Amino acid sequence: MDAAHIADDLIDVLFTEEDIHRRLSELAADVERDYEGKDLLIVGVLRGAVMVMADLARSFSRHVEMDWMAVSSYGSGTKSSGVVRILKDLDTDITGRHVLIVEDIIDTGLTLSWLVRNLSSRGPASVEICTLLRKPDALQMSVDVKYVGYDIPNAFVVGYGLDYAERYRNLRCIGTLAPAVYS
Ligand code: 5GP
Ligand code: MG
Ligand code: MG
Repeated sequence: MDAAHIADDLIDVLFTEEDIHRRLSELAADVERDYEGKDLLIVGVLRGAVMVMADLARSFSRHVEMDWMAVSSYGSGTKSSGVVRILKDLDTDITGRHVLIVEDIIDTGLTLSWLVRNLSSRGPASVEICTLLRKPDALQMSVDVKYVGYDIPNAFVVGYGLDYAERYRNLRCIGTLAPAVYS
C-alpha cells in the first residue's frame, strides 16, 4: 500500500483536521472551566488517543499533567472482544487526584466502563471521561461520559489516531473505511 494514498480507502470524510481542532478547543474550554482551581491529570488511552491528547492538551492555557495507559479490547479486527487487559499501567499514583480519561472513540463502552471502575478503585478525587467520538451503542452503557466531541453513526472509522490493523492512524482527518478493505 502506498502511504501517499491511504485516504483513497475512505468512502467519506466525517471530520477534517480543522473540524477536529475546532471541536477539541471547545472541549478544552469546557474542561478548563469545570476544573478551575483544581489540579488535573489527563490520562490518554494508547494508542488511539495519542492525537486527541496532543491537540486537547495544547488547547489548554492552564497546567495539566499527562499520563498514559494501554489496554487491549479489540485486537486487529473491527468487533469488540469484550475482553479488557492492561498492557501498560499509569506511572502516576492517582490517589486524591482529579483524573480525566481521554479516548478516541467509545463504541460498546466496554473498555471505558471497565477502565472507570479500575481507576475509581484507586482512590482518586474524581474520574471523568472525554472522548472525541461516540457511537450509538455507547449511549446504552451505564458510564457517564462528561465530554463528547461528536456522536457518529455506527460505521468503522479510521484516522486521527484510529486504526484498522495498525494502519490509518496517521491520517489527519477521520473517515469511514471502505468495507472492502476489511471484508
Ligand atoms: P469499546 O470497548 O467502546 O467497544 O471499544 C473501544 C475501542 O475500540 C476504541 O478505543 C477503539 O480502539 C476501538 N474502536 C471502536 N470503534 C472503532 C472504530 O469505528 N474505528 C476504529 N479504528 N476503532 C474502533
Ligand atoms: Mg481508544
Ligand atoms: Mg484499534
